[in-house]
Amino acid sequence: MFTLIDLPYSSLAPVISDKTLSFHHGKHLQTYVDNLNRLVAGTDLEGKSLEEIVAASAPVISSAAEGAVEKSPAIFNNAGQILNHNLYFTQFSPCHSEGSPCHSERSEESLLLAQIEKQWGTLEAFQADFEAKGVSLFGSGWVWLSADKNGELSILRCPNADNPVAHGLKPLLTFDVWEHAYYLDYQNRRAAHLKALWPIVDWNVVGDRYTRG
Ligand code: MN
Repeated sequence: MFTLIDLPYSSLAPVISDKTLSFHHGKHLQTYVDNLNRLVAGTDLEGKSLEEIVAASAPVISSAAEGAVEKSPAIFNNAGQILNHNLYFTQFSPCHSEGSPCHSERSEESLLLAQIEKQWGTLEAFQADFEAKGVSLFGSGWVWLSADKNGELSILRCPNADNPVAHGLKPLLTFDVWEHAYYLDYQNRRAAHLKALWPIVDWNVVGDRYTRG
């Protein structure tokens, strides 16, 4: 049985309002959890981890070797959405100094930030690229920073419930560009919402995802 994750904070306002956080976590994510529990009950996927279910049901990397698993878009979509939201919600920390980063983005010990600077030149250049890819994703989906097995980084623009795990990559950081993530607070202004998220990104969490085996 999957359960709704607890949030490691009580508020992310003003970047994300309490109302959006409450609906996004308590309603949208809860629905994906309920759906997946219903869909995998009594199947070969019951008891597997989210990552295993996503990999097994992903349209991209499923293979004949997994023939016992009948690929289900509904299972992939709901498992993917739980995985995506769990990574999304746990990568943030509250910041009350509006407009200025409250985390040590410039830590020289961060292997991730060193790799970002190696590939993009500056953190700001990476952020601009990440925002642009999120803005230009048509419809609903996620923009991801991901790493391959050699530690090379890439930005993925993933529709709907898609994610790096479905492509054999490690997910590090993600912005949700489904309208439910921002419409109450920013209406149609997706670009403004994405730009506003940087101060609440907890780079310690994202950096740990990069260096963890
Ligand atoms: Mn969402």
